[in-house]
Amino acid sequence: MVQFVQGAYILSALLFILALAGLSKHETARRGNQFGMAGMGLALVATLLLVLDYLGTDYFDQGPVVVGLVIIVVAGAIGAVIGLRLAQRVEMTGMPELIAMMHSFVGLAAVLVGYNTYIETADFGHSDSVHNAEVFIGVFIGAVTFTGSIVANLKLSARMKSAPLTLPGRHQLNLAILVVSALLMVWFMLSDGWVGMAPLVVMTVLALVLGFHLVAAIGGGDMPVVVSMLNSYSGWAAAAAGFMLGNDLLIITGALVGSSGAILSYIMCTAMNRSFVSVIAGGFGSDGAVSGEARDYGEHREIQADEVAAMLKDASSVVITPGYGMAVAQAQYPVAEMTRKLREKGVDVRFGIHPVAGRLPGHMNVLLAEAKVPYDIVLEMDEINDDFPDTDVVLVIGANDTVNPAAMEEPNSPIAGMPVLEVWKARDVIVFKRSMATGYAGVQNPLFFRENSQMLFGDAKDKVNEIVAALG
Ligand code: NDP
Repeated sequence: MVQFVQGAYILSALLFILALAGLSKHETARRGNQFGMAGMGLALVATLLLVLDYLGTDYFDQGPVVVGLVIIVVAGAIGAVIGLRLAQRVEMTGMPELIAMMHSFVGLAAVLVGYNTYIETADFGHSDSVHNAEVFIGVFIGAVTFTGSIVANLKLSARMKSAPLTLPGRHQLNLAILVVSALLMVWFMLSDGWVGMAPLVVMTVLALVLGFHLVAAIGGGDMPVVVSMLNSYSGWAAAAAGFMLGNDLLIITGALVGSSGAILSYIMCTAMNRSFVSVIAGGFGSDGAVSGEARDYGEHREIQADEVAAMLKDASSVVITPGYGMAVAQAQYPVAEMTRKLREKGVDVRFGIHPVAGRLPGHMNVLLAEAKVPYDIVLEMDEINDDFPDTDVVLVIGANDTVNPAAMEEPNSPIAGMPVLEVWKARDVIVFKRSMATGYAGVQNPLFFRENSQMLFGDAKDKVNEIVAALG
């Protein structure tokens, strides 16, 4: 049985690797997800078989194992029902919060597994220092991930303010927690049995504080990086739990999640022109940065949907840059319809996607794919940025921070240095939004006041539908 389970674990690991490979491209993402689901299903069945196998051994008293098995199955069923309902109910705009919440569960699981295995070994009196190190590191990463993910969830769902919490001496505080935790680890590794509980508990409290403080100190604009960084932490927490439990698949899966999350964080930092260390250290944009709101950029101009339709009919090249507002309005279907109609009329329509448009990496790509926009006209920011000077009309649909020229032109802006879609270089820019309100980073956008910009106020879905009707 154990050999069968090992074989199933290897197959699951391969399926997870195929899932990651599939998820790296739009065309293969669906298949990637299917591989991931198959791998996880197989892993669950194999692990249950492993538990069943213990029933036939003498290691444990059979009574508690049967009870344990029942508890696992019941807990699994409850978890599956809750997971299914949450996944069915969640809006695409609520995905990052949900993901952050799930990361917090992984963190909590690592903490509980750590305590459980330590209590077991302490009870049997055969704890060894290598195992203790695994427990200590696993609990530390798990606790940081737990509170950090809860803060990320609260910030993303606007239940906590997104501005960075900048306590005086915050870096020293973080460093002090790390140093004290390292000392506690030495104490923990040297202690035997129940004595080790003291450093473990103190470190857990410190790690919970560190997780809270690390993420509270990161501003809203940097949240995408935080979400993927917590994704990475949750992977390492799972890998640590794998070491504690001696479960190879958990180690492999945790390492895959941990390293892919770290790579994604790095790619996003590069895309936002941030150094990874400065994002993690937190407080970005708080040192005397001036929000563009305080400045007077002049008057904006308004336009109506039928005028935009006429402008589009005359255009030969159009670029659509969607943002979070398109997701809120669920405007992707009329946007796809408008694209189809314009292409039928011979207009060259393409999409420019900023790496952090929306509220999670790949948010816009998923929405456009859902509405069946052809992949080959959906381009990344770097692929399209040089084409704006030759573009007739840009439709900025519910995007704001990702098309803000202040990022390039105002060194004191909180989003200074973030690469943006340079839409203002096009002949005409139409901005679809409901008001002059700021975007996620809370910064006013000088694009709205440019000579070649016009505002189309209203819900993005309604306005695009009006344009579709006017296109005939
Ligand atoms: P923004 O959040 O900057 O702006 C969205 C705009 O959409 C708002 O200005 C809003 O204006 C408008 N809007 C909202 N609802 C509607 C509607 N129903 N119809 C029309 N317009 C609407 O979006 P971007 O996508 O440009 O930028 C993403 C921001 O989110 C960045 O700051 C990024 O750092 C951050 N972020 C990204 C994550 C990611 O991984 N992608 C994760 C977390 C944060 P109004 O209210 O006037 O309508």
